[in-house]
Amino acid sequence: MTDLPLWFDPALLFIGGQWSPSATDETLPVIDPSTGVEIARIARGGKADIAAAVIAAETALAGAWGAMPAFERGRILSRLGMLVLDHVDALAEMEARDVGKPLRQARNDVIALARYCEFYGGAADKLHGQTIPFQAGFTVYTMREPHGVTGHIIPWNYPMQILGRSIGAALATGNACVLKPAEEACLTALAFADLARQAGFPPGALNVVPGLGLEAGAALTANPGIRHLSFTGSVATGRHVQIAAAENIVPVTLELGGKSPQLVFADADLDRALPFLVNAGIQNAGQTCSAGSRILVQRSIHDQLAVRLASAINALKVAPAMDDADVGPLVSARQKSIVESFLAKATPGQILAQAPLPAGLPRGGNYIAPTLIGHIPPDHPLAQDEIFGPVQVLIPFDDEDDAIRIANGTKYGLVASVWSADGGRQMRLAKRLHAGQVFLNNYGAAGGVELPFGGTGHSGHGREKGFEALYAFTALKTVAAWHG
Ligand code: NDP
Repeated sequence: MTDLPLWFDPALLFIGGQWSPSATDETLPVIDPSTGVEIARIARGGKADIAAAVIAAETALAGAWGAMPAFERGRILSRLGMLVLDHVDALAEMEARDVGKPLRQARNDVIALARYCEFYGGAADKLHGQTIPFQAGFTVYTMREPHGVTGHIIPWNYPMQILGRSIGAALATGNACVLKPAEEACLTALAFADLARQAGFPPGALNVVPGLGLEAGAALTANPGIRHLSFTGSVATGRHVQIAAAENIVPVTLELGGKSPQLVFADADLDRALPFLVNAGIQNAGQTCSAGSRILVQRSIHDQLAVRLASAINALKVAPAMDDADVGPLVSARQKSIVESFLAKATPGQILAQAPLPAGLPRGGNYIAPTLIGHIPPDHPLAQDEIFGPVQVLIPFDDEDDAIRIANGTKYGLVASVWSADGGRQMRLAKRLHAGQVFLNNYGAAGGVELPFGGTGHSGHGREKGFEALYAFTALKTVAAWHG
């Protein structure tokens, strides 16, 4: 049925190193967001499949995987990174067709996935405990141990990157993983499972169970065998995940998106800033948790920046994912209608720019014209809520205090940037901004595999990426030895 570059059967689950149908034998359609056409089917995993995956993971921990030295885990993870690179074309096409991402953005995601495998592969044997000076007659030291079976629920916007940062750190530290990818984005997770098998991970170290959030996802969060939960997605679902984690008293990492501000001062280098300001809003059609989707600009350059932004946004090209334009379709008809309902909140006078949708786009695709909104107060829903579409808002401010008041004036706190030539201002504002990451005269820092990432407020808590994630995926044990 499919012309996708698949070397595995996507309608199967990957549990205990084996491919099998779901317990109910049911499947779900994979819809190409560029065309609306069904291109494959995936398994509809449920409670029984999650239970089987957790048992497979526990079995792995009790066997070869649990006994494997850290350097060996790292070597297999690094080998997996190389296999990912060997399959870059197939993985990129799979992702582009599955979630509507322009091909080169999908390719960047493959490279990032490989980088996560390399980074955490190299880090696996470099996570050390400490010795602690204590009373006479004692030697005290700490060890970092895996939690056990870790549950991972990921969204559809950056499936490979989010899988890489979460699974990479968990496997490097010796956990056994059960992954529930988003229903709209399972293909590359399944491909990754097969590459992990080829790389030499023992059966059960990584298990992948596609299915619906309310079925497989909820079953994963409720399973008492899960010892740590990692979730990326919406605030509403994150709340459910945290409640489920509380029932079983397990730690949880939540990354719940944001409404990240970019502060542009009158002394900024606008030539450098402009492509970042545009890209941070429209990359992946704006379906980015860290999208820099609120541009706050000093009033004296507001009109100048508005004109330049409008001209850049009007020039953006929208096309099917495989045509590799600036902006592809949104992931689903549901996501398109969410974004349309946001755009309906703007009056015609508040739409400063809107790139035209070209004639001839496939009728079943989920296309939205990239849009720049202005002349709205900072408390307007378009300036407060995560739109998750190619929509930028422009808001003026007067001075540093005003900029901080507006920047920190949402429930979120994921990422922020400051564009200014004044070094003192950069340092002052980096301290005052409510955000897990602050970028000075840049945005996003090339994906930042090495850079700890996570939020405050409704953006969530806990950190993934970088070395910091290794602490989240381990528990510290203190050993106090009395030897006289
Ligand atoms: P969700 O948060 O519902 O989905 C994220 C993941 O959680 C998916 O794998 C989903 O499975 C799963 N899930 C859903 N319900 C449950 C549950 N009760 N228990 C456990 N897992 C569950 O996001 P949506 O896809 O519904 O998107 C809605 C909005 O969320 C977007 O418009 C956007 O604003 C925001 N969002 C933010 C993201 C971020 O990166 N921070 C990523 C994605 C969305 P399944 O999809 O199979 O149902």
